[in-house]
Amino acid sequence: MSSDYLRTYAQSADANAFADAAPLTALQKELIAKVDARGVTWAERAFQHDREASFPTENFKDLKDMGFLGLCVPERFGGIGADYRTYMLVASRIGYYCGSTANTFNMHNANALWSADMVDKLDLTPEQRASHEHNRRVHYANMLAGKIYAQPFSEGSGAAAGRHPFGTLATRREGGWVLNGKKIFASLSGSADYYGVLCTEDVDNPSMANTLFVAVPATSPGLTIVGDWDPLGMRGTVSRTLLLKDIHISDEAALMPRGIYAQAASRFPHMFMTLTPTYMGIAQAAYDFAVAYLRADMDGVGVKRRMYPTKQIAIAEMYVKLQQAWALFHRATSEYKLDPSRSERMRALATQYTVMDYAADIASAAVKVCGGQAMLKTFALERLFRDSRCGALMLPWTAEICLDRLGKGLLYNEGEPRDDAV
Ligand SMILES: Cc1cc2nc3c(=O)[nH]c(=O)nc-3n(C[C@H](O)[C@H](O)[C@H](O)COP(=O)(O)OP(=O)(O)OC[C@H]3O[C@@H](n4cnc5c(N)ncnc54)[C@H](O)[C@@H]3O)c2cc1C
Repeated sequence: MSSDYLRTYAQSADANAFADAAPLTALQKELIAKVDARGVTWAERAFQHDREASFPTENFKDLKDMGFLGLCVPERFGGIGADYRTYMLVASRIGYYCGSTANTFNMHNANALWSADMVDKLDLTPEQRASHEHNRRVHYANMLAGKIYAQPFSEGSGAAAGRHPFGTLATRREGGWVLNGKKIFASLSGSADYYGVLCTEDVDNPSMANTLFVAVPATSPGLTIVGDWDPLGMRGTVSRTLLLKDIHISDEAALMPRGIYAQAASRFPHMFMTLTPTYMGIAQAAYDFAVAYLRADMDGVGVKRRMYPTKQIAIAEMYVKLQQAWALFHRATSEYKLDPSRSERMRALATQYTVMDYAADIASAAVKVCGGQAMLKTFALERLFRDSRCGALMLPWTAEICLDRLGKGLLYNEGEPRDDAV
């Protein structure tokens, strides 16, 4: 089925919701135009990757050709030097065309974003700054050479939710570490060249302060990928399980200096919001699909359905939710900073919750309003519906955890003791 209608819809005022919110910089316009130039091809390939649960390797070749594997690599290291908000805008457009590509690209890109100016703004010793400068030069050179980085944190425990230290352990040895552990849902498994892993220093009574963030080469002896991959949605992410058994890595593998991850996590909370644009893009795509379908603006749809009042109301309701999500998205992505205020932190959580839940609501409404023929696998809609469902499950900010933190954060001031339940 042709995805050609996306060419015009992506350019429409609605799909460009972000262009209206704040003037785009020249760089943002240029990067989004580059995504638009390839996007329809990605949308067409998405049918096959979804059907086969296979990784969109060709899309990553495109991203490499576009220079996007260095999107958030600072310019002085040879990258494009996109800042946080620019990444979020560009990623939402990638998600518009292919959710799995955006979801996996987020994992690659976060490794660059988190090790760039974010670390520079944290409290580091001069020695830590020097070693970090050396290490990131190595990793950025890899990315610019076309190496793909993944970011498997999840372990199936409360660790990725920030409840307790990671179970994957790093034992100190001369000049590096030996890793042992397991990571579930490792998007890009089998396709990444490096896995950016969070693990805990093997010390007595470890805390979050003992978290290490290191890049493990995919070729490391002792690294295996196990389990099958046949999920509901986001099938192109190929997020299988990684087993790490006595893996030796050098100090150069560090993507952040020792002990700095915990500081980053508490002082830059917006770092955990970088999957939001994937699902913002999916929400916009589901809405645009519904409009195009009801107007019979797409191949394979010979009948217009837009004249029925019930359809008009349903589209209006979807539009209201979409605009609410975009509005929060724009505000929160503009509030990324070191030590944001309490209200900025709360708004970031509210944004993540809204986008992830509304994406699923909007896609579900689109299925209902378009009707039976539209959910055949020849159309993108049923995939958007399934992909949209995954956003709310993403740790560390699942929809449930967002509500949990919001509830506590809003009822208790910073440092206030918790009350006993009555
Ligand atoms: C398509 C897809 C791709 C993914 N890709 C990646 C990836 O590349 N990298 C990665 O790291 N992960 C990835 N994930 C995993 C994702 O981030 C979650 O870790 C995963 O969905 C959690 O599954 P679970 O069943 O263990 O979740 P849950 O059981 O819901 O949560 C895991 C743990 O978090 C704790 N927890 C849950 N809710 C709360 C709460 N309200 N308060 C406090 N603690 C709570 C619990 O201890 C629980 O055991 C991916 C997931 C999907 C669906």
